[in-house]
Amino acid sequence: MNQPIERTGQRTGAEQEPLLMNTLPNIALLGTGGTIASTASSATVLADYTVTEGIDDLLSAVPALSSLANIQCQQVFNVDSRNITHAMLLKLAAKVNRLLADPGIDGIVITHGTDTLEETACFLHLTIHSAKPVVIVGAMRPASALSADGPLNLYNAVLLAAHPDARDLGVLATLNDSVHAARFVSKTHTAQVNAFGSPGYGSLGQIHNGRLHLFQAPIKHPAETRFSLAGLKTLPWVDILYDHQDAGLHLYEAAIAAGAQGIVIAGSGNGSLSPQAQKGVRLAKKHHIPCVRSSRCGAGMVSASPDDARRGLIAAQSLNPQKARILLMLALTQTHDRATIESYFEQY
Ligand code: ASP
Repeated sequence: MNQPIERTGQRTGAEQEPLLMNTLPNIALLGTGGTIASTASSATVLADYTVTEGIDDLLSAVPALSSLANIQCQQVFNVDSRNITHAMLLKLAAKVNRLLADPGIDGIVITHGTDTLEETACFLHLTIHSAKPVVIVGAMRPASALSADGPLNLYNAVLLAAHPDARDLGVLATLNDSVHAARFVSKTHTAQVNAFGSPGYGSLGQIHNGRLHLFQAPIKHPAETRFSLAGLKTLPWVDILYDHQDAGLHLYEAAIAAGAQGIVIAGSGNGSLSPQAQKGVRLAKKHHIPCVRSSRCGAGMVSASPDDARRGLIAAQSLNPQKARILLMLALTQTHDRATIESYFEQY
């Protein structure tokens, strides 16, 4: 049954009693790095910092967590989130799925850099096979900062993961007292603590004064996701190409020559493509490479067009370019058929 925890950090929870002696939920806390685990040269430096803290340090910085859960922590990796690779994603997802299969684990909290948090959240959301809560959390200010937001964000994340109402909602993210669905959450500001939103869809609720208040539940979450990572050593390569006025063809040529198996275009407006992007799509079609039309707008749908099938395109629906890339990668682990991939974009 229990998958051994590779590195067990401080166990919090009612006076270090054995797990069975208290009724607190058992939460696995997985560290992956990010600003929440970073320190800078002084308390007023908020932008130049490096990852220095392990997950044990983050846990010990918030003694109040002991009133919420029995916590076992593991360091999965410890990097700025811009450095996360496909191999790391696969490692994290495999670990999360193993822990969730353990009847002794009630929920999971993952600390993560905010820059690519939505990509990891979306990836886990589409590959996790469990109703148990999985919560991703980060911080906008380093641990060394005046008014660092990491400790309270972490407290709220454990509160959320330990809460029965957080079951069956898919992967969740919490920062700045708000609760978001992985499917919709996005980083929308470069620096402020309210950097995360679910543009056009709204947050699911709030954590206020130590209590969870959920107001909506996402229906777009794969209770029985079709994607399985079993046996996968790597993920199909998918590039995102940003479209704009007077764009060139060369990025499409380069992506195809480099062996991209799929292309996501961050198009303008409702997934509109410049003339050269349209040429790029024709070139990709010749090489049997599916292209997804998404939008660089940051909010709103890209609606399917009757022309998409003929042109070899797939509408990203409500996924932004970075999330469309995750779904296209996962889709390509199963099929290269345009119509089938299109149906995944409608479903997920
Ligand atoms: N550079 C950080 C990262 O790892 C940003 C953050 O965590 O806020 O993504």
